[in-house]
Amino acid sequence: MRYSIFSLMRQALSGHRGWTPAWRDAAVKPAYDVVIVGGGGHGLATAYYLAKVHRITRVAVLEKNWIGSGNAGRNTTIIRSNYLLPENLEFYEFSLQLWERLEQQLNYNAMVSQRGVLNLFHSDAQGDAFARRGNAMRMHGVDAELLDARGVRRLAPFLDFDTARFPIMGALLQRRGGTARHDAVVWGYARAASDLGVDIIQGCEVQGFVKEGGAIVGVQTPRGEIRAGKIGLAVAGSSSLVAGLAGLRLPIESHVLQAFVTEAVKPLIPGVVAFGAGHFYISQSDKGSLVFGGDLDGYNSYAQRGSLATVEDVCTQGMALMPMLGRLRMLRSWGGLMDMSMDGSPIIDVTPIKNLYLNAGWCYGGFKATPASGWCFAHMLAREEPHELASHFRLDRFHSGHLIDEKGVGAQPNLH
Ligand SMILES: Cc1cc2nc3c(=O)[nH]c(=O)nc-3n(C[C@H](O)[C@H](O)[C@H](O)COP(=O)(O)OP(=O)(O)OC[C@H]3O[C@@H](n4cnc5c(N)ncnc54)[C@H](O)[C@@H]3O)c2cc1C
Repeated sequence: MRYSIFSLMRQALSGHRGWTPAWRDAAVKPAYDVVIVGGGGHGLATAYYLAKVHRITRVAVLEKNWIGSGNAGRNTTIIRSNYLLPENLEFYEFSLQLWERLEQQLNYNAMVSQRGVLNLFHSDAQGDAFARRGNAMRMHGVDAELLDARGVRRLAPFLDFDTARFPIMGALLQRRGGTARHDAVVWGYARAASDLGVDIIQGCEVQGFVKEGGAIVGVQTPRGEIRAGKIGLAVAGSSSLVAGLAGLRLPIESHVLQAFVTEAVKPLIPGVVAFGAGHFYISQSDKGSLVFGGDLDGYNSYAQRGSLATVEDVCTQGMALMPMLGRLRMLRSWGGLMDMSMDGSPIIDVTPIKNLYLNAGWCYGGFKATPASGWCFAHMLAREEPHELASHFRLDRFHSGHLIDEKGVGAQPNLH
């Protein structure tokens, strides 16, 4: 069923009784060409591009809960491509370009909104670093503007410019950055993949792997053994656990990251604003809630909830930037599991175990990567070689020392 203004009008006239389910509730088949483990954004995007671009449609996505129940439905929805290092910059810019045409391609309203991302700086040194990053972006054809304090005040007059402990000196602005509705992205990919023949199987946890002669030939689930020519892991915060079932140890730690929403208010924040003197960022949802987040909780965990100490820390940083925040009631907070790689950059690669492929290490930034991650992982699964934009995201870089140290903080995700 195509979604359009005409189908909406037809349904409105018939009491909305003709809508069909967005994706098929597929029965498990005994074997597939490719099984993707994990029904988050990355797993579903991979399945979609496998079917759409590479015409591989004997594909199943196995999700232990419901699709989007992981980070895909828990993140703060920011999309951008304002990276410094070329390996990340080119990949994330490709992703942003895919976001720009995603809704037309999927025929689904993912509420992609290029409302701009402002990264504030609060010292000369930080200003220099942002100018460098902006220059790197522009040299790669990516939009970037350096604003002074007056320029920031014009866009975001509600910030504390006059009494702040860390005065705002300017910002790096990417106007093409913004937000997208995270669960709609999951549903859009699921619907489009299902239309092309992909089986989406929810409530189907992968609990082990079937091995034959050193190669993996299938997965064990509560619904029985499912055979597959290739198995792609896209389980984000559960990467070390699931890879561990196959006997693979990953250079990844799982950490909790929390997000927060307030009661709804009238339109206030035009885009995304990120505080440079700490780790705090904020935007406003289309319903009016302010949506914000900050740092990791700082300890390893597989629980999708965080601690009160971090709630206090994030809110303190928010108040330092935007004191009016203290007048709002916070409605909800939740946590997600971050697959923190040891250099802050992702992995899209084959593994040393035959037929097992890995997509992981997305750290804080995997939502914006969803389309490009799916595109490149599908390429890897279909062609057995890395896509040129993901050719640096190899697993062996942790062995050879060719790290992509985007934030320059080394192997300490808890200290980001
Ligand atoms: C609070 C928070 C805020 C964030 N904000 C942003 C942001 O603003 N911008 C941005 O770019 N990124 C952000 N991120 C990061 C981003 O959400 C993740 O990097 C990205 O969603 C990870 O990929 P995914 O969507 O495929 O993961 P997930 O949605 O977590 O998908 C993995 C799936 O695998 C399933 N699974 C796990 N184990 C098994 C198993 N054994 N068998 C079957 N299925 C299994 C899980 O249930 C889960 O559904 C944020 C994350 C959090 C938690």
